[in-house]
This record gives sequence, C-alpha cells and structure tokens, in this order.
Amino acid sequence: MAYMLFNNDIMERSNCVDVEDRGYQFGDGIYEVIGVYSGQSMLMDEHLERLERSANEIQLNLPYTMPELKRQLIRLAQLNQLEEGIIYLQVSRGAGPRWHEFPKDTVPAVTVAYTREEKRMTNVEDNGGTAVLTEDIRWLRCDIKSLNLLPNVLAKQKAVEKNAVEAILHRDKIVTEASASNVFIVKNDTIYTHPANNYILNGITRQKVLELCHELELPFHEDTFTIEQLLNADEVFVTATKSDIIPILKIDDHLIGHGKPGDITHYLLKHFRKFINQVENNLDPS
Ligand code: PMP
Repeated sequence: MAYMLFNNDIMERSNCVDVEDRGYQFGDGIYEVIGVYSGQSMLMDEHLERLERSANEIQLNLPYTMPELKRQLIRLAQLNQLEEGIIYLQVSRGAGPRWHEFPKDTVPAVTVAYTREEKRMTNVEDNGGTAVLTEDIRWLRCDIKSLNLLPNVLAKQKAVEKNAVEAILHRDKIVTEASASNVFIVKNDTIYTHPANNYILNGITRQKVLELCHELELPFHEDTFTIEQLLNADEVFVTATKSDIIPILKIDDHLIGHGKPGDITHYLLKHFRKFINQVENNLDPS
C-alpha cells in the first residue's frame, strides 16, 4: 500500500484533489523535490528552508513548522519503504471559490506529499548527454519554486523531442539555467554559474556543488555567461536533485570541448558521490 501526506495526516494514497484547489487551478502554491538515497533523505533541511523562503515570497502561510514537516516526510518515506527516489511536497494556498485574489484567512493552505521510486541516473551522469538551447520565456521570479511550470514543461519537451537530456535557457543571450536544472560551464579551469538572483532557481544541488568547489579549491565565479561562452566552454554540466551532475557533450549542433565528459566535471561528480555515500551511511557529512 502506498501512503501520502495530506495536511497533517498520513493516509492511503488517493487522488483527492479538490477541484477548486488553487494549486490545481492557478498554480498558486510552491513545492520541493527531495532526493532519497538508500533510504536516507538528502539535504532535507536545505529544501525545507527554500520552501519557507518561497512561501514568504508569495505570502503563503505555512501551516506547519519545518521540524514538524520534516518529521512527517521522514515517516512517510519510511512507511512507503522508499529506498531510491524522491519525496514530492507541495503546499497550495488552499481550496476556495474561484477568484484570483487570495481567499479569506479562514481558507487553510493545503499540504500534500508523496514518494516515488526512481532509479539513480548513473549512466547519463557518467557518460553525459546532449542539450538544446531555447529562449527563457518564464516570469521574473524564477527564484520562487512555484507550481507554475508550463514554460519549463514546454522547454523540456523540446529537449526530449531531440533526444536531449535538458533544454538550456537564455534570456537576451545570457544563459540563465535549464528547464529543471542549473547550468555550469568550465573555461580555462574556472567554473562559472549564473548568480542566485531572480532569474534562476537557487538549486540545492547547485549550492552543494559550489560548496564542493570551495572545499576542493577549484576556482569558481557566480557570474553570468553568454550563449557564445557556453558554446565555447571546455566543459558544461547541469545539476539537479536526483540527477546530481550530468555532463553536457553537445548543445544543438555544437560539440562541447572534445565531446566527452570533462575532467573537472568528472572530479566534481566523484566528490558529489562521496557526499551521497556519507548520507547513505548516515554519517555526518560535515
Ligand atoms: N532549476 C530549475 C528550474 C529546477 O526546476 C530545478 C529543480 N528540478 C533546479 C534548477 C535544480 O534544483 P535542485 O538542485 O534544488 O533540485
């Protein structure tokens, strides 16, 4: 039997969306996807911190404290005997008569979480994949992890139709991020990624990779780069929960570097896996 979290209760999983839930009708809500490796959730506190930030930015009152939510999510993953996969958590502004403005304070936010088994993507992480370039047509608050993902969906579909793993997005020739991941380039042994501002989601994996760069003394800059710099980079990789670090070998018709996963990408992946291993063995990774 599969369980889900519905508000403060863990219950048998069902499709019980209220037709007037604002998440369903307006995308008026926020979410997080937390990776689980060998039964251990990864960077859960960081995900919940970002959830809190997203909630504040859209003036959504979270009904539970982060320690309460954490406890329920861990229980949910245990009840579902989740070994490898994700915990999906979303909070919408609740269900109420369909008017655009916020509903009255008496309408409580609706919290839902469930888990899904997902295999690790070691093959594409080791061997890399291709990407397509497409315009970033999203709104100007991409730092909020909101339920509105239509532009991301359209971009990812373009990638999949070309057998690519990601769609890399650009706004006025500046590379922002990808449809569901952050983008990094390496040029002359220096790593670059877009600064964490309103044009990108500040990925939890992105932050971990930057922390690793710091620890490993790899030079890096949170700086913008252009399409031209992307295509002329020595290495390109994307980062996201559960797909970790994926080397990008080709973008549209342009080969990146030698068309093979680069040394720095490989080195970072090795250390990222070391970190995952510590999480799996429940060791304090700090
Ligand atoms: N950017 C976007 C647009 C995303 O949807 C995601 C999450 N899939 C990411 C970046 C990566 O974030 P995280 O590392 O927290 O999964």
